[in-house]
Amino acid sequence: MTEVEARLTDIQRRIGLACGRVGREPAGVKLLAVTKTLGPEVVQEAVAAGLMVFGESRVQESRVKIPLCSSNLHWHYIGHIQTNKARDVVRLFEMIHAVDSLRLLEHLDRVAQEEGRTVPVCLEVNVSGERSKFGMAPEDVPAVLARAASLFRVHVAGLMTIPPIAEDPEEARPFFRRLRELRDRWQSETGVLLPELSMGMSHDFEVAVEEGATWVRVGSLLFGPRKKKESHDPVE
Ligand SMILES: *Cc1c(COP(=O)(O)O)cnc(C)c1O
Repeated sequence: MTEVEARLTDIQRRIGLACGRVGREPAGVKLLAVTKTLGPEVVQEAVAAGLMVFGESRVQESRVKIPLCSSNLHWHYIGHIQTNKARDVVRLFEMIHAVDSLRLLEHLDRVAQEEGRTVPVCLEVNVSGERSKFGMAPEDVPAVLARAASLFRVHVAGLMTIPPIAEDPEEARPFFRRLRELRDRWQSETGVLLPELSMGMSHDFEVAVEEGATWVRVGSLLFGPRKKKESHDPVE
């Protein structure tokens, strides 16, 4: 068994246990393998371990890396998007996890139209209100959902959040729970289905699963610590 296989097995076991604690089906939790900073050889190792869906957060790096990997893989963009990189993102990625403004959503809709694509996205919500964080303020989201109803090339599939960095994963729980509660409320108020909750990373994915995550974004726990120092939501 390779190291990635062993780590993957352990993560899947822990997802299963977290699901068991709250009566969820493990099939409802999808693992996004975050390969930012890692080369195509690591992606290949992950594919050999059975992974098919990968997350990246840097456009420049993805532009080089993705064409070097097997063409049958699924790529999701999880970083902040600058307007001038939106076209590359739409071309390279199947799903976008962190749309953090109405302006960006509208821009992606135009670009997707031009590229002949329809793109599922999650809206990034700044649940904690930290000023350093990307994401929409919760009070702004209902208007964005209303506007999204008339954008036909972007499909809002759910919500994403990144909680404040904390030593104890339990500290992330209120933020994950809040995102789920907001989702439930907005679903019933607007009638728009928001099935996806993209939340939880290496450090806190079990808590996120207990609180309803459908996508957990896991990098370092699968592949080992990244060499470069960085924040959790790097800006290009
Ligand atoms: C890097 C990154 C991850 C993965 O982080 P790990 O702590 O290595 O699991 C998840 N989500 C986003 C948005 C990231 O930028």
